[in-house]
Amino acid sequence: MVGHDNMATKAPTHKFSSGLKKKQNPGDIEYTTKAYNVRRWHRQRIYVLRHEPLCRHCANRGETVPATEVDHIIPHRGHADPNFWRFENLQPLCASCHGRKTAKETNEKKKAKRNAYNDL
Ligand SMILES: [Zn+2]
Repeated sequence: MVGHDNMATKAPTHKFSSGLKKKQNPGDIEYTTKAYNVRRWHRQRIYVLRHEPLCRHCANRGETVPATEVDHIIPHRGHADPNFWRFENLQPLCASCHGRKTAKETNEKKKAKRNAYNDL
């Protein structure tokens, strides 16, 4: 009788642990989607830089500087945001122009956060 009870408790434990293993699969799918987006972005980036190889901000100032980075004109909220993939929302920039723009955007975000707290 005792031996039978032991087997009964052992079996569900084994089932439970294999169930946990199965639960990790959706995470793998998420990872695959992320890797896919990274590859897609890499291709999009190359396309933009081939299409317009010079920094747009420098070109506006009359300077000819090779673009090394692709910037989102309207800041995006991740890969699911259509603004992330829209070709019209992308512009080639050099590292220094991109850095300046990113710093400005970060400051604006911080300001917006501060204002939101002031409203409370
Ligand atoms: Zn530039």
